[in-house]
Amino acid sequence: MPELNLVLLGPPGSGKGTQGERLQEDLRLPYYATGDILRGAVREGTELGRTAKEYMDRGDLVPDEVIVGVIAERIDSPEARDGFILDGFPRTMPQAEALDAKLDDLERAVTAVLLIDVSDDEVVRRLGGRRTCEENGHVFHVEFNPPGSEGVCDIDGSPLIVRDDDKPEVIRKRLETYHAKTEPLVDYYDQRSVLRRIDGTGAPDDVTEEIRRTLATMRLEQDETV
Ligand code: AMP
Repeated sequence: MPELNLVLLGPPGSGKGTQGERLQEDLRLPYYATGDILRGAVREGTELGRTAKEYMDRGDLVPDEVIVGVIAERIDSPEARDGFILDGFPRTMPQAEALDAKLDDLERAVTAVLLIDVSDDEVVRRLGGRRTCEENGHVFHVEFNPPGSEGVCDIDGSPLIVRDDDKPEVIRKRLETYHAKTEPLVDYYDQRSVLRRIDGTGAPDDVTEEIRRTLATMRLEQDETV
């Protein structure tokens, strides 16, 4: 089977994380979410975490050179030989170019970019109500997925908090950053004919179905061209 090098693109709160985890199970490919990797590094207090924290708390992107190395190393690892799922990377034009250059070195290329489309208003509603467990990052939502008892994680009992970057003023900043720095990638990948648009406004199961259908169609198209 040909390798599957997937990128999930979309604004913060579009459901990339939820869909990425499901895709990982479906496709049995490694899933690299840069936000999770960076939050893990902050929790562990590594050098990467110390560098990233101040940018993340403000809703800014960490510098390209900090994150590019982290992803390049993973893509080049044996577990990613048959493909990978990227979530939250690339997020700027230089990151997209660095990804292409790295894949080019490995004689590989991005297979598909799934753009999960949702409006800014929907992003604010989703992220504003999000509560994250302090210990292990389990995610709840006051409206869509409330925990059994308020403020406590159902899974490990640790306190639920509002992530610094889910605070209202930071959400607005993250959306601005998305439109300014990440949205240009839509054209970039469209011109390379790898962009697939997914309506992200429905229920998570509906979005998963649309992604599965899209990938299945893509495979059929690939088979026809072989
Ligand atoms: P996320 O959970 O994907 O929304 O990421 C949380 C935060 O991590 C972002 O607001 C950025 O500060 C940082 N981050 C994650 N991925 C990247 C990236 N590819 N480039 C720069 N900063 C990133």
